[in-house]
Amino acid sequence: MSQIVLSTFNARYTHTALGLRYLFANLKELQEVAKIKEFVINTQVADAVESVLSENPKIVGIGAYIWNANEVGEFIEILKKVAPEIIIIVGGPEASYFPHRVDFSGADYFIQGEGDIAFYELCRAIYDDKAPTQKIIKADMVDLNAIKLPYAYYSDEDVAHRQCYVEASRGCPYSCEFCLSSLDKKVRNIEPEKFLQEMETLWNRGVRSFKFIDRTFNQGITTANRLMDFFLSKEPPYFIHFEVIPDNFPESIKERIKEFPPSSLQLEVGIQTLDPVISQNIYRKLNIEKIRKNLHFLENETKAHLHVDLIVGLPGESIEQFGKNLDMLYGMTRCEIQIGILKKLSGTTINRHDEIHGMVYSDKPPYDIYQNNLIPFDMMQKMKRFARFWDMVYNSGNFKKSVTYLFAEGKVFDGFFAFSEWIYEQTESTWQISLDRLAGFVFKYITEVLHVDIEVAKETMIEDVMVVRGRKLPKFLRIEIENKKTRKEEAKTFNKRQLKHST
Ligand code: SF4
Repeated sequence: MSQIVLSTFNARYTHTALGLRYLFANLKELQEVAKIKEFVINTQVADAVESVLSENPKIVGIGAYIWNANEVGEFIEILKKVAPEIIIIVGGPEASYFPHRVDFSGADYFIQGEGDIAFYELCRAIYDDKAPTQKIIKADMVDLNAIKLPYAYYSDEDVAHRQCYVEASRGCPYSCEFCLSSLDKKVRNIEPEKFLQEMETLWNRGVRSFKFIDRTFNQGITTANRLMDFFLSKEPPYFIHFEVIPDNFPESIKERIKEFPPSSLQLEVGIQTLDPVISQNIYRKLNIEKIRKNLHFLENETKAHLHVDLIVGLPGESIEQFGKNLDMLYGMTRCEIQIGILKKLSGTTINRHDEIHGMVYSDKPPYDIYQNNLIPFDMMQKMKRFARFWDMVYNSGNFKKSVTYLFAEGKVFDGFFAFSEWIYEQTESTWQISLDRLAGFVFKYITEVLHVDIEVAKETMIEDVMVVRGRKLPKFLRIEIENKKTRKEEAKTFNKRQLKHST
């Protein structure tokens, strides 16, 4: 039985809620009566409520994010109906900005901002019969060096089976209008010594995968170098993930990145747009030459696994311009290019473009854009499918060589757009397409629409598929190969017979 239950819905079982562990770590004397209960978004919400109620709690704190806002809304509704005496406190980005776009009205309190300390203070006040009368609790940014860090509250099961998220800093000095981190304005670092002690403990407990949620890892060079030195001093294998800004790779950072062994470092490099006018529109810093140089360095002189990303639907950016961005980015790197659809995140200032650019978004999470003045609804739909097929065909790495037939004459966007339209005509879906079936479609398109020689296309696809050791060839290729063998055998037998007759 726990009087305070801290809960949320994670996107997947393997994800862990770092935020809940921060709240728990800072509950002081109330920690004894508190417990964390995490669910996954595909849990039946009523089952989650039942599980929380089994603790007979007095207070339930729940974290609301873009990926779980609907589940949290339903959770609050059920909980309030069946146990109205329980005090519900909601925090997280979806609870922090008003008006809420999902109905959380059954909650008793909303913590607006960083709840690490505010949640404890509110619980304490409730216990002391001094519960505030106002529903909205405004929480200031915390001093990261004055609060308890959460890493001791990763359980042994988390360490063994789930992803351990870590953060060495919060905030971002940049102002990209679509991004929630732009609201913080400055970066707050955790004292590296204190942070690295925690990492050492995690390492000693067996953690080998560290996913940093810092928004701009390479912003503070000294700290970034110190953190990298820590991991470089460890025995591989391990896996470290950092989000980085594309234009800040001084020599000292480069030297360290070069030292990471294969498969140990993943860098997510935010690009979003390569159009200077659009970047300026949304207050995003852009230096194309630095991006070009740094991507070239990362791709050619390091073993880091790279992701870059672009957004469709930014205010003022047409599909033609997006296509140019994709062509240009492909010209700079062969790494994964993630294509995202613009979202109107609660609290951001992207809404100032609504009128002038005719921005129309879904009111439901994740608040995707439907259309704007330059991209009508049907084109936006096509681009959502483009992004999905791009992931399956290009980003998956399953068709590394075959995919280049789709990009004839360097027209990456045009070539892939035509393929994406064609494959959707065949499938009428972007989901549940097995690798076998997908390979069949890619092959059919290359040979029947683009008229690549069948034998050449077959060889290329076999090379692609067999990159992964032990992988079975797609069924249509196995049949093709069997048929070819049979034809050869038949031809041999025929030739032998001919020879016999003639002698
Ligand atoms: S997109 Fe990246 S650089 Fe821009 S504000 Fe967000 S975190 Fe900072």
